Amino acid sequence: MSGPMKLVVAGAGGRMGRMLMNVVAAHPGCALFGAVDRKGAACIGGTAHGITIADDICAAMKGADGLLDFTAPEATLAHAQGCASFGQVHIVGTTGFTPAQETQLRTAAEGARVVKAGNFSVGVNVLLGLTKKAAAMLGPQYDIEISEMHHKHKVDAPSGTALMLGEAAAAGRSVDLETSSVRGRDGITGARKTGDIGFSSVRGGEVIGEHTVIFAGGSERLELTHKAQDRTLFAAGAVQAALWARDQAPGFYAMTDVLGL
Ligand code: NAD
Repeated sequence: MSGPMKLVVAGAGGRMGRMLMNVVAAHPGCALFGAVDRKGAACIGGTAHGITIADDICAAMKGADGLLDFTAPEATLAHAQGCASFGQVHIVGTTGFTPAQETQLRTAAEGARVVKAGNFSVGVNVLLGLTKKAAAMLGPQYDIEISEMHHKHKVDAPSGTALMLGEAAAAGRSVDLETSSVRGRDGITGARKTGDIGFSSVRGGEVIGEHTVIFAGGSERLELTHKAQDRTLFAAGAVQAALWARDQAPGFYAMTDVLGL
């Protein structure tokens, strides 16, 4: 397709939304076409890069090529059907979906070109591949623990990225994460079961996102760590995903597809 890709940013008043607007406005391959947030949000009526932040997603999406959506699960679900019915690209960065909401999203998004990722950074997507490989090579005698730290404003735990890392570890071991994961420990929990994949979440300050996958063996420990230093990272990845998805057949894609990993 020719011409800059016309993108709308949802959650424009949020941490990621503000970053996304800056990255879109500065990118030669796309144009900031609209910006929306929820009704009653303090940012409604404000402007960014010459665009007024509105609360009517349907009006904002008229004539747009795609939506960059880093909001909340209920909001993303509501946006999915609209994007699908108009064949628009839907980039989903929102995390914290329940399994039922995940299913609803896939149904609602049928016909759209969706890229959904719990993390749009290149480094984390490489870490996913390394985690799967290490889990397969080291075997169940190495205890896998995934620890993450995020800023104090984050509302879901474990992070979407931590869960993806858990899925990657489980895939490497050919086990089901659902039945082998332990989400936090408290009290007399009993000894750790061989094969468990443990999660722990730390919240505080303004930490953008840190993830470590620990493989703890009897006499050695391997740790794979990723630290995000700037939210631009996620915004740039989301824009890259939108430009990629523009030329794809309708479908539900991951960032690893965009990066060809
Ligand atoms: P935030 O709370 O700063 O921003 C969220 C914004 O969404 C707010 O402005 C809120 O008003 C808005 N919103 C809520 N409901 C809405 C609706 N119905 N319509 C339009 N806007 C609505 O949060 P944040 O730190 O920007 O993160 C947003 C989401 O993105 C979270 O789920 C977070 O975990 C996720 N995230 C993903 C990645 C990634 O790479 N995938 C990176 C960072 C954050």
